Amino acid sequence: MNLLQKLFGGSPAKPEKRYYTFSVKCKRCGEIIEGRVDLNNDLSVEYEAGGDIYYARKVLMGENKCFQRMEVELKFTSDRELSEKQVTGGEFV
Ligand SMILES: [Zn+2]
Repeated sequence: MNLLQKLFGGSPAKPEKRYYTFSVKCKRCGEIIEGRVDLNNDLSVEYEAGGDIYYARKVLMGENKCFQRMEVELKFTSDRELSEKQVTGGEFV
């Protein structure tokens, strides 16, 4: 079991891991916004020699009036494990 699985593994009550949730903090106003990826519907797949890669891209905007947009890009393996993440306009918290 890797570290990410330990950190993001679902609760025992719902073994079906359908959603990946994350929080990002706005770079401008500091607001924390939560996002969610539906692992069944939100992923687009790219076929690569070493194994398929699943992508999700989310654009988040806070409730505050700063209108900073945060673009989140996530990559998952075919097992729906997070392999890479990046965000512009904010940072993961
Ligand atoms: Zn903001």
